[in-house]
Amino acid sequence: MKISIIGTGYVGLVTGTCLADLGNNVICLDINEQIIEDLTKGKIPFYEPGLEDLIKTNLDRGNISFTSSYEDAISFAETIFICVGTPEDDQGSADLSFIQDAVIKISDYLKDKDRHLTIFLKSTVPSGTCSSLQDKFDELLENSQSKVVVASNPEFLKEGSAVADFMKPDRIIVGTDDINVSELAKRLYRPVNWKSNRLKIVSIEAAELIKYSANAFLATKISFINEIAKLCDAVGADISEVRKGVGLDPRIGNHFLYSGLGFGGSCFPKDVKALIKTFTKNNIDTKILKAVLDVNDNQIDYFINKIHSVYTPKELKQKTLCVWGLSFKPETDDIRESLSLKLINSISGEVKHINAYDPVAMTRAKDSLSNIDNITFSRDSTEALQGADALVITTEWREFWNPDLESLEVLKDKIIFDGRNILDKKLLEENKFSYFGIGR
Ligand code: NAD
Repeated sequence: MKISIIGTGYVGLVTGTCLADLGNNVICLDINEQIIEDLTKGKIPFYEPGLEDLIKTNLDRGNISFTSSYEDAISFAETIFICVGTPEDDQGSADLSFIQDAVIKISDYLKDKDRHLTIFLKSTVPSGTCSSLQDKFDELLENSQSKVVVASNPEFLKEGSAVADFMKPDRIIVGTDDINVSELAKRLYRPVNWKSNRLKIVSIEAAELIKYSANAFLATKISFINEIAKLCDAVGADISEVRKGVGLDPRIGNHFLYSGLGFGGSCFPKDVKALIKTFTKNNIDTKILKAVLDVNDNQIDYFINKIHSVYTPKELKQKTLCVWGLSFKPETDDIRESLSLKLINSISGEVKHINAYDPVAMTRAKDSLSNIDNITFSRDSTEALQGADALVITTEWREFWNPDLESLEVLKDKIIFDGRNILDKKLLEENKFSYFGIGR
């Protein structure tokens, strides 16, 4: 099938590449010409395990190409996936302007043609968006022979395992009441859906809401366990033990019950806020989601207070902190809403120096933290420890889980603030380190 992807970021590039690998012919379009120029040479704009090789393979096969021209992309396509961003606007709602721009550009091309296209909207959007886009297409193409059908197909990939998530989905949600679109979706996804059927055809509004509800529920689990972790600190319980005991209940499960710095990234914070806005627009108060955000917004301060509980402001001014982790989570270089960066921005003025290290997010972090003059970016985690008084762990990259005790001995104060609860507290304390986790 000939497929065009509109918006070649994390979701668009993974979707386009995987669809190409499944035997389709794919054109990925982006308005960012630099991204397109790089991709044409096989250079990917972000770190995602397995993706670069898959792009190169499919570039060699001629299954995938990249363009900035709407004319090239739309004239080629039988089916379109819109994957542009829906960031938070200044009111906390989803900013739909990138989608609206794409709708206008697609319609501009189609208006003097006679083409019938199905458009799957992968971007995360509030309930009612696909219907209003359908109305917009109908209006813009009123005097044209062309016709567009809009369906919802929200994306559930996780950065860091995005290719595997696409190829082995836990669910494929398609929102449509058009039988031809359902059949098209079944055909498109058949190669990844034949073993067990994960494809659910639902109403457009339900599909849109499934995506927000799923992200909001995961965010709720994180804020819930972070709140319990505070109680653990107060009563002297270890959140790791509490989590395991709670998670053994199959009705609860052990996923997303890890206390830490809270949730960041490009999706959860903005999606929870956008869902709250949707509640408000429908005149319904959501107490749970507001509390989820509130707990999350305060979690970084809760952690920073642990640093303040150890050092007086005067002492802190003399200290160098080693910070391990800059991306918002492991296996990605995405630093959007990264809590590590929030911490660095918040504490850099209070300390003498920061030595920072991340396995893949250094370039992006350097750009984002260019306003900070007392930070050094180290080549590896051991180098970052040199000259530091204390270690702060902010992202749970695998390479940080089991550090060599000897290398930690260089920490002048032998203090570790573990914002992800990944180190062996008992072992560290036996070796005379002071350990501060969250809820343990
Ligand atoms: P992104 O910012 O990485 O990529 C969006 C791309 O769209 C950018 O490269 C941008 O240049 C391009 N773009 C913007 N306007 C355009 C236009 N009019 N025409 C063509 N290209 C345009 O965003 P992302 O992380 O891929 O997210 C895309 C959508 O998918 C969002 O709604 C997001 O909430 C959702 N989503 C993201 C993830 C994730 O993990 N990143 C997971 C599931 C769903």
